[in-house]
Amino acid sequence: MKPPNITPPPLRNDCFALPAGVNWTPVDDALALLRSRLTVVTSVETALIGQAVGRILAEDVFAKRSNPPQPNTAVDGYGFSGAAPEGPQVMPLQDGRAAAGIPFDGAVPHGKALRVLTGAALPTGVDTVILEEDVTVQDGHIAFHGPLKQGANTRKAGEDVAEGDLVLPTGRRLTPADMALLSATGISEVAVRKTLRVAVLSTGDELVEPGNSAGPGQIFDANRPMLLSMIARLGYEPVDMGRVSDDREDLRDRLDKASEQADVILTSGGASAGDEDHVSALLREAGAMQEWRIALKPGRPLALGMWNETPVFGLPGNPVAAKVCTLIFARPALGLMAGEGWSQPLGFDLPANFEKRKKPGRREYLRARVRDGQVEVFASEGSGRISGLSWAEGLVEIQDGACHIRPGDLVRFIPYGSFGL
Ligand code: AMP
Ligand code: MG
Repeated sequence: MKPPNITPPPLRNDCFALPAGVNWTPVDDALALLRSRLTVVTSVETALIGQAVGRILAEDVFAKRSNPPQPNTAVDGYGFSGAAPEGPQVMPLQDGRAAAGIPFDGAVPHGKALRVLTGAALPTGVDTVILEEDVTVQDGHIAFHGPLKQGANTRKAGEDVAEGDLVLPTGRRLTPADMALLSATGISEVAVRKTLRVAVLSTGDELVEPGNSAGPGQIFDANRPMLLSMIARLGYEPVDMGRVSDDREDLRDRLDKASEQADVILTSGGASAGDEDHVSALLREAGAMQEWRIALKPGRPLALGMWNETPVFGLPGNPVAAKVCTLIFARPALGLMAGEGWSQPLGFDLPANFEKRKKPGRREYLRARVRDGQVEVFASEGSGRISGLSWAEGLVEIQDGACHIRPGDLVRFIPYGSFGL
């Protein structure tokens, strides 16, 4: 039989601009819209300092006590009053000493020196300290060489933090260093946001649970373990909603459950406009679907919608695209909803150790790492190449307008750590 006379579409040169007739949303516009639409959804609770690391402050914290609370000595040595002039100095020793936590009881007369140990509150009559290594002690006297400025080797009260100062602002994700700062300034408990609950759901008839046997045409669900662990690393509570097949009723049911158990839902797969893309179809049906064709590679499609008043990020199924979309779109959005505020990952401009041509008008993220001060990229840009996600130590961000990157050009490298992973 003769084949039908069908004309194939014209060849498309990959260096041409993005397909015409489509309204491509620039990444920054999509981010600005997300930022303007989302708000904090978590409530407030009190946490003791011992449990507060990694939590998000729900209000500004002010110092209850100065640090240091009183003037004290920064070194082991001998304390006295006023500056010492140039040349050899000899001073009689005052009986007793001042140590950390054990202040000297009394005043030190002008012209006399007192033994002082690091951290000791300066007694009345002492405002200057000479380091013990610079002193000879003999016959109840000390001898050293001047000059020494008044106040040398001492710490002033409140020179670090004064009582009433703002110590840490609302939205701060508390670090181990913050534990020291809060403790030192007299704070033992803080108001924090409840941890944001993030549901993760995989969709696709082809998916099998890792550990089970996989038949022909089946693949192991790689996105869910990745996304759940990303959520945990980002400091949120992962809620595992399992997998659903490409069945609209099953998916509807699971989204209902997820919206009861979590503050926000991440799905992967089924987000574009194909026959089996039920996530986007359901969100569209629910009426609050953002039809985004984002000028981003890898990434599109990304379906955003509300399900029972719970925001849903319908991520692409390809693991590389799922990860990039989570880092670029979901991460700042989760930060906003969790009370941390919108944040941009810290990137570093470094010379490229690669060459790349791309279409202008879209943002691209490549799996990258830094060696010898230069950014190298994974050999393949294939969106299914999961090994490249592991190989990489971050992403390189190629700006929308760029067309041709040559070796040595500065490119923006964003380590995974900058995203909080
Ligand atoms: P989809 O977005 O559903 O069209 O899926 C795009 C590609 O990603 C297909 O090759 C899927 O098999 C694959 N994919 C979808 N979900 C997963 C998953 N959870 N783990 C690994 N690959 C997936
Ligand atoms: Mg699918």
